[in-house]
Amino acid sequence: MKYCLYPKHEDQYNSFPFTKSVLSASLMLLKVRHRLTRSRVTDIGRLMSNYRVSNTSLSYQVVKYTIEQDMTNELDTETYYICTSCYHTSKHSESCASETCHENDLFEKPPSSFSKFCVRHQIEHILRNLNVQLNIRPQKNSYMIDISDDGDLYQHILSLENDDFITFVLNVDRISLSDSSDQSLWIFLMIINEISENVRFQLRNIIIPGIWPGPRKPTNPELQTTLSIVVDELVDLEEAVDYYVKSSDSLLPLKSSLICSL
Ligand SMILES: [Zn+2]
Repeated sequence: MKYCLYPKHEDQYNSFPFTKSVLSASLMLLKVRHRLTRSRVTDIGRLMSNYRVSNTSLSYQVVKYTIEQDMTNELDTETYYICTSCYHTSKHSESCASETCHENDLFEKPPSSFSKFCVRHQIEHILRNLNVQLNIRPQKNSYMIDISDDGDLYQHILSLENDDFITFVLNVDRISLSDSSDQSLWIFLMIINEISENVRFQLRNIIIPGIWPGPRKPTNPELQTTLSIVVDELVDLEEAVDYYVKSSDSLLPLKSSLICSL
């Protein structure tokens, strides 16, 4: 979402329809850039309201809530359809996207499906609300290495990277939908190693990159295809992304790495 903070022409100042989302994002930018306290943000909002600027939030809490709602709306979901013949993925449910597949014109058997959730938006949401310090650039032999059970790879990344980064462990869990049937779904979960252990596994700090809706268990080729869909986004996140981290009240450029898949 891109915001236009400053209209190009002076006469637009009186007519430009600032939305509550735009004003809240502007106030949050001011807070970060100038290290304003929450009460300062509230004061600016009330000052703008006194000058009859419409859609102004009257408190920092409302600014924060408005942005969080916008972010929730942006937790976009994509559905991928997986051909049961060649395991190629398609964005539409009618036919296989592979031109070499005999189901390219029309699926002969119903394709499997996989719901993918945007990982980057979830990281943004978690770090924006994280109350504990993010343990980036940990020292060697820190407690995180033992917990991730993949200490060698963690140390290897640590030795290669000069930039700050966070790391993930990916797991796939089966959730039974009923005691009386074998209907299940499989939920993909990722935890962030650099979050303190005491809150790392809380639901609000867990990333859900995707769901296999079942009812049957994915076959090995289907599981590999779904993992590749998730990994495609994770590869993009290996480049540094600016995240607002609440506990340090600052924007941090962080790279991301998947270090373990269980
Ligand atoms: Zn196919």
